[in-house]
Amino acid sequence: MKVLCYSTRKDEIPFMEQAFADSGHQVKFIDSHLDITTVRLAEGVEAVCVFVNDQVDAQVIEALAECGVQLIALRCAGFNNVDLEAARSQGIAVVRVPAYSPYAVAEHTVGLILMLNRHLHKAYNRVREGNFVLDGLLGFDLHGKTVAVVGTGEIGAVFCRIMVGFGCRVVAVDPHQNADCLASGVQYMALDEALAQADIISLHCPLLPQTHHLIDDRTLSLMKPGVMLINTSRGALVDTAAVIGGLKRGHVGSFGIDVYEEEAALFFEDNSDRVITDDLLMRLTTFPNVVITGHQAFMTKEALENISDTTCANISAFESTGRADNQL
Ligand code: NAD
Repeated sequence: MKVLCYSTRKDEIPFMEQAFADSGHQVKFIDSHLDITTVRLAEGVEAVCVFVNDQVDAQVIEALAECGVQLIALRCAGFNNVDLEAARSQGIAVVRVPAYSPYAVAEHTVGLILMLNRHLHKAYNRVREGNFVLDGLLGFDLHGKTVAVVGTGEIGAVFCRIMVGFGCRVVAVDPHQNADCLASGVQYMALDEALAQADIISLHCPLLPQTHHLIDDRTLSLMKPGVMLINTSRGALVDTAAVIGGLKRGHVGSFGIDVYEEEAALFFEDNSDRVITDDLLMRLTTFPNVVITGHQAFMTKEALENISDTTCANISAFESTGRADNQL
């Protein structure tokens, strides 16, 4: 198939080239995001390959159909940026990579927790400047603390296992209880109950209409003072303005994020030579107890290999049978 790969980053091209080498597909890589202004670049291609911040709404899907596109291949797990109903009505199939490395995201989540708890971001800078003072670097033992995990699918379950390994008590929220989590001692409970008990809260559920702003003023008010809140799932699970309020009051003890509600306009780009006008994100960067990474939790070698191989397999399966296992 002729495939146009939008939003391609330099780091992923070698993995994609290797995966597609003997596939027979003709793949073109471009760094532009897919949106209504770039959709016509897909004229004459049969499949477009897109990533987390490409805008695949009804208008773009209608234009893709006019271009002759039959398949949208997501090279990610989340699909909140795709209007699936619009794709169905235009007869365009949508495939994704459901699980490429739950370890990559779960391990990055643990990295954010350790960084915030032991103030590694401050310690790194201090030592480079010859400052070996320990003031302000006090952390707490993770051992014995209660961690609430919202969403125990592929990533959440791995994260639960790691936190059990640290000696934490892990409580979880999910409409579907995971047998492995139950076996390792994870206790399932209602969201409000879990939030109220937790020293650390980590979000691993998908962004859906019912999970939009799951963390807001109401749910923040249930949490223990000093709670650590971590989001490596999707930005809009959190009402950022509400969390900023919680940080200013000292109610939220620390906040670690790899995703941000308005990240599409900024992430994956070098914005260092322009004025960033997003006041909420900029306010977050001023807190000493906030750590932000730019949607890099998935970025391991193993994950990029799996993403590329599965994306190629999805496209090949669709070409030969009209369906793929990972079709939405
Ligand atoms: P998954 O589908 O395996 O698991 C999601 C779990 O959330 C499921 O068990 C589901 O039952 C549960 N869930 C659904 N609604 C819920 C609710 N209201 N409350 C609690 N739980 C709920 O997905 P996954 O592979 O574990 O990925 C989780 C999320 O991580 C994805 O949706 C994606 O947004 C995000 N993600 C982020 C990165 C990154 O680089 N930061 C990479 C991959 C995935």
